[in-house]
Amino acid sequence: MIHFVGAGPGAVDLITVRGKMLLETADQIIYAGSLVNAELLQYAKKRCRILNSASMTLETVTAAMAEGEEMGWHTVRLHTGDPSLYGAIREQMDILEEKGITYDIVPGVSSFAAAAAAARAEYTLPGVSQSVIITRMEGRTPVPDKQKIADYAAHQATMVIFLSSSLLAALTAELLRGGYDAETPAMIVYKASWPDEKVLPCTVASLAETAAANGICKTALILVGPFLQAAYERSRLYDPTFSHGCRMAVAKP
Ligand code: SAH
Repeated sequence: MIHFVGAGPGAVDLITVRGKMLLETADQIIYAGSLVNAELLQYAKKRCRILNSASMTLETVTAAMAEGEEMGWHTVRLHTGDPSLYGAIREQMDILEEKGITYDIVPGVSSFAAAAAAARAEYTLPGVSQSVIITRMEGRTPVPDKQKIADYAAHQATMVIFLSSSLLAALTAELLRGGYDAETPAMIVYKASWPDEKVLPCTVASLAETAAANGICKTALILVGPFLQAAYERSRLYDPTFSHGCRMAVAKP
């Protein structure tokens, strides 16, 4: 059995209880060494085989999984954050299906959630934004038409941009092209939840210079949108004049 496990954003205690339990019982752990905190491997059994997938291919990863199956092992495939985002798990699952190997997925705390926590921000503010767009700049991985940053910027919703901290001048150009104002608030969150985490408020125009001044070119998320401004409306959920399934209004609006 293969368990795809979300390792969380970095801090060792941000893995789920289920994920930790699976690490403790695994006979083989294949971890994404470029981003997963290696301290998580302290939970592994003494005789566990540990492989770092940073230097492996899809074929060698799935071959190691198949080998584990032949040995009757439990294998954990440890991915950073939540495996469903930029985790390249679909291609692994498809090969496992072909080989008739069973697997399941344990979700993890994505870095986009850890970044909001680090920034002490709420992505969905009434009257400001009720949507979060998770996206990336086009790099070596192509981004389909109609899904470019400028297409999304036109919505003026909250944007969380992954995998783009080395492309910030181009990101600014795309955000401006999509209709964002140069002074729209933005934020660079570097290594959310790690000891060397950095939270850097800036604007759409100053993304590249802020990153350069702080030596940041990887492991960061870019947050963009008016949710970083001061103004918003109060929530209806906790409004005393508003009734819902669990509470009657105490006063008329
Ligand atoms: N599945 C992961 C994302 C993997 S893609 C998740 O759910 O978070 C790798 C990208 O995620 C990095 O380039 C960076 O943009 C972002 N990232 C991962 N961990 C991060 C962290 N702790 N702080 C900020 N960004 C992070």
